[in-house]
Amino acid sequence: MASRVLKTGENQITTKFSAGHKAVDVVKYRSQLDTIVAHSDGKVVFCQTGKKNNKLAVGNASYGNCVKIDHGNGYSTLYAHLALVYVKLGQTVKAGQEIGTMGNTGRSYGAHLHFEVRLHNTRIDPTPFLEADLQQHNVTYKVYTNKWLAPVTNCNDKDSNGYAGVVNKRMTALQAVPSVGTLRYRVHLLDENRWLPWVENDADYAGNKGEAIDALQMQLIGADGYEVQYRVSAAQNARWYGWCTGLSDKTGDGYAGVFGKAIDCIQIKIVKK
Ligand SMILES: [Zn+2]
Repeated sequence: MASRVLKTGENQITTKFSAGHKAVDVVKYRSQLDTIVAHSDGKVVFCQTGKKNNKLAVGNASYGNCVKIDHGNGYSTLYAHLALVYVKLGQTVKAGQEIGTMGNTGRSYGAHLHFEVRLHNTRIDPTPFLEADLQQHNVTYKVYTNKWLAPVTNCNDKDSNGYAGVVNKRMTALQAVPSVGTLRYRVHLLDENRWLPWVENDADYAGNKGEAIDALQMQLIGADGYEVQYRVSAAQNARWYGWCTGLSDKTGDGYAGVFGKAIDCIQIKIVKK
C-alpha cells in the first residue's frame, strides 16, 4: 500500500482504526524502520522530544517523541513513537518533508508509526488518507428534535460524533452549511405528507419544529467537481438507508428516507465527483 507518511512510500497497517485505537499503526512493508514524512503542507503545533520507551506512560507521554502538524481547513495529523525528531514547534513543513524517524518511544511495543488524522481535533479514520489528500470539503449540520442539537462536521458512524440526531428521537428540523458552494435542501413532513419549500445554507432551516420528517432532498450547487452525499436512518429501524447523491439514489427515488417513517439521524458529506 502506498504511503504519504513513510519516505520510501510503502506501508503495512499493523493495528487498524477502532473505537479504542483512533489511529492506524504502520510499519514499512517487510522491513519496518523508515523515515517519517509530513503528510501535507502545514505547521508544527505540537512537538515532543527526549522521550524513551515507557510502557506505563499516559497522556501525551504515551505518544513518546511526537509531532503534530496543523494543515488548515480543520485538519491536523499526528506522528507518534518517533526515534528522532527533525522539526521544531512552530516550523512550517512541506508535504513529503522529513520530520523524524520511526521508533519505539512512549507506550509502544515495538517500533512503528502511530498515525492520527484529526478533523476539528476529533480523531477520524486515517486509513483512506494514507494514500490521499486531506484536502476535502465537509458540511456542518445540525438537527432539531425538541431543541437544536450541537452541530456536527464529521460523517463517520464509528464515532459518537459522526452523525446528527438522537437515535429514536424524531428529527423535526435541519440546518446544513457546506464548506464550498451552496447547499439546497428540503424536507417532507410525515403527518402532512408534503414537501416544504427549498432552503439554502443557513439562510433558514428546513422543517416545522415539532413535526416529524420522513424524507429529505439535498443538492450542492456552485462547487465545481464536488457533490453532496447524504443518508438517514428511521426511528425504530436501527439501520441507515442507502446513500443519496444529489437528487438521485440507487432506487431512483431521489430522496433519503421512506414516506411514513420518521427520520431520527442523518449523515452528510461532500465528495469528489
Ligand atoms: Zn497506535
